[in-house]
Amino acid sequence: MLVTRGRIALPVIVVCSLVFSVIAGISYQGYRAAQQDARDVMKSATSEIDGNLASLAHDAAGLKVVVIRADRVYTDSGGKTLDETTRTALIASMTQAGTSLVQHEQSRDNLQATLDDATQKFISSLPWPPTALGVAQDLARTPDVSDASLIAAATELIVAITAVQTAEIAWQVEQARIAAEKAAAEAAAAEAAAAEEAAREAASRSSGGGTITTGPGPPPEALATDPGFNVEAYIASIAPNAYVSWIPGLCDGFYICGRAQVGGIPTTPVEIRLDPNLREIYSNRLGKSVLTHESAHARQWLYYDGSIIADNEALTGLSGVAAVEYMADCATIVILGYSTGTYTSSCTSAQLAAASLIW
Ligand SMILES: [Zn+2]
Repeated sequence: MLVTRGRIALPVIVVCSLVFSVIAGISYQGYRAAQQDARDVMKSATSEIDGNLASLAHDAAGLKVVVIRADRVYTDSGGKTLDETTRTALIASMTQAGTSLVQHEQSRDNLQATLDDATQKFISSLPWPPTALGVAQDLARTPDVSDASLIAAATELIVAITAVQTAEIAWQVEQARIAAEKAAAEAAAAEAAAAEEAAREAASRSSGGGTITTGPGPPPEALATDPGFNVEAYIASIAPNAYVSWIPGLCDGFYICGRAQVGGIPTTPVEIRLDPNLREIYSNRLGKSVLTHESAHARQWLYYDGSIIADNEALTGLSGVAAVEYMADCATIVILGYSTGTYTSSCTSAQLAAASLIW
């Protein structure tokens, strides 16, 4: 019986174990499929969030580059805009960009923490697929963090940078205009100075040699000096329209010399240039003739009223400057009874009469 029962029991056991094996096999396949479903949802959700994080990081990096550029433009434009309006606006935009960056940094950190937390929970709940699937589905429902404010901040900053650069160009144009104006003013001043110089030169020429240095040669014997003689007082007494300028070295190479510098209108004071190294010699006989000759030029300039050359040419038959010099020697003879001897030592009575008119 035992044997018999054993024979009977064996197939039952075999059948039963076959049944259990099929049930277990079916159950295991479903479990794996559920895990895979959870994994698929989790993978999709993770990928979505990773994409969002990468996009935020990219836009934040882009904004930082624009902020650095804005900072450089702000620094470089100091003192190079007509007013501070655009630079003040740029600073405001930079501040706004900084705020945006901080806010997004925080949002990114929060999103990353959500992802990390869900990943932990997912791994630990994977042995029970329904829970893991719930975690994955929750993660999939996490809203994206928008990068709109990062992009808006970058756009606003670029507009502000462009405004500052435009203001810099306006400033440069203004600087160029000022420089051109200054250059034009300088050119005009130089031209006016040149014209004035040319006019003075022309006046000098028309004066008939008032600017020629009169320098007689040394006398054969030493001449007596006059210790009480005062050059300025002497000139003032015969040519009140003249004044003396002492020019050291003026007569280097001469025994003595003098130079009358005429110009302007007839009443313009005439400068008589003398050499301070020769004060003593001016007090001797020859020196006095030079002072008188130069004083005569001052009086000629006043007397002939613009026709100094023509009138003296008519009196002497000489031409140009030589006529004026000749008559200055005649005028010297009128005063002293002798001349410098440089242009003439004697004059006709008509010439002396004419020369006397200037004194
Ligand atoms: Zn002269």
